[in-house]
Amino acid sequence: MQIDINYLKDLALSSKSKEKIIFFDLDSTIYDLTNRQATILKEFSKAYLGEGDFSPIAQRIIAADFQRFPFYAEDALKEKGIPIHPVFKKYFYAFWYERFFSNEYVAHDLLEDGILEFVEWLVDRDIKVVYLTGRDMPRMGEGTQQKLLRDGLLQKGEQLLLKPNSSMIDKEYKLDMVRSYFAEGKQVMFIDNEASNSNYIWQHMPDVINVFYDTVHSGSEEPNENLFVLSSFIHK
Ligand SMILES: [Mg+2]
Repeated sequence: MQIDINYLKDLALSSKSKEKIIFFDLDSTIYDLTNRQATILKEFSKAYLGEGDFSPIAQRIIAADFQRFPFYAEDALKEKGIPIHPVFKKYFYAFWYERFFSNEYVAHDLLEDGILEFVEWLVDRDIKVVYLTGRDMPRMGEGTQQKLLRDGLLQKGEQLLLKPNSSMIDKEYKLDMVRSYFAEGKQVMFIDNEASNSNYIWQHMPDVINVFYDTVHSGSEEPNENLFVLSSFIHK
């Protein structure tokens, strides 16, 4: 069911329970990753400019203005009509992997429009805000905490939960955490952009208010029909 921010706020206040918790995913939920993704892609293009005949393609990538970067960099190039060059195919993934999951590069992320106001609105109503992310502590913990602090999202008792290690499966980690906070009488809300996470939580905990944030996702699964679907944190 498609909802808007006003409906989401009504949901957040819907139960009589005094204890209310809302779990937010970070990547592509709190944060638009366009700038992190585009920065890595452009740095790659500069680094591999002299490789074979990659130069004209690299120049086009460097000059491109990416908006709402898709889940896969290949799709970002296709959207711009830029060919998938063999140099990109051969070297990009390793280059990307080293940087994407790092303390340094999360600093490039941009807040989703309206999220800061929504978090403030929740905090003002004593709803506990927990950022529950598939990012892992060893590679991204420090950078993630600094970034949230800098963006004003960890000022009033909001909590950050990262995976203790990268080998854990996101959806299993998230289910464990949501479960551990879920007690009799508590209202729990879960917001995530990755359908495999949202579906998994729904399958195991159908009483959780489950909101699929419809930005970009891997496409490994589509959101099931029982989820609330939100497209923007902005008041229209
Ligand atoms: Mg996400």
